[in-house]
Order: sequence, then structure tokens, then C-alpha cells
Amino acid sequence: MPLHRDAILLTPGPLTTSLRTKLAMLRDWGSWDADFIAVTASVRNSLLDIVHGHDSHVVVPLQGSGTFSVEAAVATVVPRAGHVLVLDNGAYCKRAAKLSTLMGRRTTVLPFDDAQAVSPQALETALQADASISHVLMIHCETGAGVLNPLQAVADVCERHGKGLVVDAMSSFGALPIDARSTRFDALIAASGKCLEGVPGMGFVFVRKEVLATCEGNSQSLAMDLFDQHAYMEKTGQWRFTPPTHVLVALHEAIAQFVEEGGQSARLARYQANCDTLLRGMAALGFVAFLPAAIQAPIIVTFHAPAHAAYEFKKFYDAAKRHGFILYPGKLTQIETFRVGCIGAIGTVEMEQAVHAVALAMQELGIAHGAPTSAR
Ligand SMILES: *Cc1c(COP(=O)(O)O)cnc(C)c1O
Repeated sequence: MPLHRDAILLTPGPLTTSLRTKLAMLRDWGSWDADFIAVTASVRNSLLDIVHGHDSHVVVPLQGSGTFSVEAAVATVVPRAGHVLVLDNGAYCKRAAKLSTLMGRRTTVLPFDDAQAVSPQALETALQADASISHVLMIHCETGAGVLNPLQAVADVCERHGKGLVVDAMSSFGALPIDARSTRFDALIAASGKCLEGVPGMGFVFVRKEVLATCEGNSQSLAMDLFDQHAYMEKTGQWRFTPPTHVLVALHEAIAQFVEEGGQSARLARYQANCDTLLRGMAALGFVAFLPAAIQAPIIVTFHAPAHAAYEFKKFYDAAKRHGFILYPGKLTQIETFRVGCIGAIGTVEMEQAVHAVALAMQELGIAHGAPTSAR
């Protein structure tokens, strides 16, 4: 029998949105119309509020999924002769290194373990060893395993060495604290369909004003040049090319709810409660989380797959879906895992129900216990 409601998405974007956010998408908008221009301006203003960036930064929205904005940010703020050092502790870091390479920027990867945060000390050493590095690229929350990386400490090292910093804050922005007044970055990227709980379809990049002023002509792309996108938006209030109108009005409505909820600290508190409920419930079923608590961001949790011979992710996924919850595959290459997101317009009630759905899925697969073969 089909579900009589949408399944709850325990995935880190797209995620479950509120009815208010969905309803905002029921109107059509002319891209040049004053009403739509006002929505664009309001969203940009709110985004700068969230990061406390009005004095230091501009925000440039861009069509596409989050990766489009990461690629656009690298190509816009790193000069063609620049040298990017990528702090790599997971799949999204590897993707960032690949796009930086494809954009023709000299790219060096500083590798770390998937189960550890990146090290500001190792960054310090790498910068001392190679003066040609011009920019550091880091992922704030590595959504691959769910690790929270030390943004402030990395930013401090970059500032001390006079290096540019590009931060992919896709899965942290809006939930974890980021303050442009105390954390120096050249560019910071996030998107509509993550912790702000909008729908997917656009990203946005905060660019330091002094940096943007030097970026004309850096990008080899027409459509993804954030300098041009910004210049056009400042002049006309409009997007340079067809905007994702419905995505933007949904984000506008999602931000209104974000503010009503109490902003970033309230959102973090809800996600932390979701994460705690999930970890407690899954532990009771025998599951073991991949990460130590100290570096676990309250965004997405990686669990070791159960050791039981009957376990197969696809079957487990299908069973959980029949009970109303969409899980996420693991993204680690060496170990069999799966992931459960804590973000979206959901609370601890839904997380308890999610754990219950997992318990029912295990029963159906004949798995008595969630314990893995090799728990860390
Ligand atoms: C979601 C996410 C992205 C963007 O992924 P898209 O599939 O392009 O939306 C980039 N970096 C991180 C860390 C993410 O969590």
C-alpha cells in the first residue's frame, strides 16, 4: 500500500520542508518584475544578516545545485595563476579538489583521515613549506562522514599567513555558528536546500568586498562568473539569466520561519536534539556510529552497517521507506556504512519514529542486532 503522506527525508538535501515553504511555490513570478526583485533583495539581505556580513561581504546567489556555486566561487575568487590547497577529509573535499583542478587552478591536496577533523597545525606546516599556495579550500561540515571541521582555527592560520580562504559551508550554514566579523574568509558557499530548509535549486556565495573588487576576468565561465552576476544584480536588482523563481520564493518563506524559530542558535538546538535522539535510539538497537562524538556535527550521522549476513543496504532502505523514512547510503570507500540526516523541518518526534522505522526494517530483514563487525 502506498504511503498517504510524503516520506520524511533523512538526507542532507533535498530535505523535508514545511507546508508553508511548499505553499510559497504556488505562484508564478516575472523575473524582471518589481515584486520578484524585492524578494531577491530581501533574501540577500537576510543571508548577510545570518552571517553578520553586511560590513565585510556581499552575497551572490547563483542558479544550480550547491556544487555549481562551489565551482563558481573557486573560478571567481582564485586568480588563474593561483594555487589552491584543499584540506581533504572526505568525499566533498575530493569533489572540491577535482573542480578546482578542472577550473585550471593549480591544486594540491592535503590528506586527512575520514574519521578525523582537518588539522590547522598540518595546514600551518604546509603553508610554511610552500609559499606558492595562494588559497586554502576547506569544507566546514564534511557531509561524507559528518565531521565538523575547525573553521575558526583554519581561518586564523590563513589570516596569519595572508592566504585566501574558500569555505564550503553547504551543510553547516544556518545551523552552526559562522560570524564574518570574527572569522576571516574570502568566499563562503551554501545553498537553498540545506539547513535553511528551502528547496534545492540555488546556491549563494559570500565574497569579501575587497576580494570581489579584484575578481573581474578571473572566471573562464560565462554563466558561473560571480563577479558579473554580482555586478548585474547590483545594477538591475535582477538575476543575470533566468532565475529559479519558485526556489527563491520558497527560500524567502523558509528564511522567515528560520527567523521566527529564533535563528541559527534555535536551529542548532533543534538539530542537536534530533541528532541526540537518533544516536540514543540507534545505540539501543545495537548500531555503532562511525565518528567519535567530539567531531560529530549534528547534521548527518554515519553508522556502521550491521554485521548480520542478511543486511543489504538496498533492502534495508526499501524497508525503511515502506515505514515512511528515506535513509542515505554511506559515502566511505573502505567500510560499509549508511547515513541518517538530522536536518530538515523535523523534530525529535520524527527522529523517534525514524528509529522505530529502522527497528521494523531490521525485523523484516531478520536482523536481530545492529552491531557491526568492526566497531571503532
Ligand atoms: C550538499 C553539499 C554540497 C552540494 O552538493 P549538490 O549535490 O551540488 O547540491 C557541497 N558540499 C557539501 C559539504 C554538501 O553537503
